Amino acid sequence: MAKKIGRRFEGKVAIVTASTQGIGFAIAERLGLEGASVVISSRKQKNVDEAVEKLKNKGLEAFGVVCHVSNAQHRKDLIQKTVDKYGKIDVVVSNAAANPSVDPILRTQESVLDKLWEINVKATVLLLQEAAPHLQKGSSIVIISSIAGYNPQPTMLMYGVTKTALLGLTKALSTEMAPDTRVNAVAPGFVPTNFAAFITKDEAVRKVAEEKTLLHRLGTPEDMAAAAAFLASDDACYITGETIIVAGGIPSRL
Ligand code: NAP
Repeated sequence: MAKKIGRRFEGKVAIVTASTQGIGFAIAERLGLEGASVVISSRKQKNVDEAVEKLKNKGLEAFGVVCHVSNAQHRKDLIQKTVDKYGKIDVVVSNAAANPSVDPILRTQESVLDKLWEINVKATVLLLQEAAPHLQKGSSIVIISSIAGYNPQPTMLMYGVTKTALLGLTKALSTEMAPDTRVNAVAPGFVPTNFAAFITKDEAVRKVAEEKTLLHRLGTPEDMAAAAAFLASDDACYITGETIIVAGGIPSRL
């Protein structure tokens, strides 16, 4: 990262779910570059090992735990192993999501509805239940929502509804966890990761997505990481219950 950045997370411990690539990895890297001990996690051990290695090769303090966010034992392990290693938790970034279907809502199978709810919403609640006893005074939660939570996007409508639910969850948890823990969200626009490959790999579709932005470009994982790091840091110490849309000016709300 060529940009000059601060050291806002010196002495802090940060867990980022789904952080072996894409936006989650960029957030973990950013927090690590700013001094945090970061806990990497995702479903596959190999991906976890590789991501931890990448961060360590940059001189960052990183530790990895396999965690499929909808697996109760994995969530328990993620929190317990973090506490065993670092003794506390200052930041949790809930970033995992699934978008298993492009079907219209009225033709989406019940099993798919369950999976969307379970991974995109319920797992965040359950992970935070597990983390809560270990959260420090002044701790911070960042939930990754989506521009699709504000603007229904064709082919990902039900996914968008789960991301809208996260806006409500952010508000609700900010009430419940105050004053010791702040809870905020980032709503990314289009970012060319594997997750968004179906939008960004097709040149024509990609162009349409770019043209929807005022800044004439797609977002980068680092753009999302900068916003997440701001919200997680003491620079945002008087902000809770808010969502920052990081979407290059795609119309969202007044
Ligand atoms: P990505 O690049 O495809 O990365 C997905 C990451 O999630 C991988 O590290 C993957 O590793 C892990 N993962 C997948 N399912 C998981 C699960 N059930 N439990 C734990 N880890 C899991 O995705 P991304 O674009 O960075 O997306 C990250 C977040 O940003 C999601 O919440 C997404 O909804 C949101 N978002 C993305 C965009 C976009 O345009 N990219 C826009 C708006 C919002 P393993 O395979 O090893 O599990």
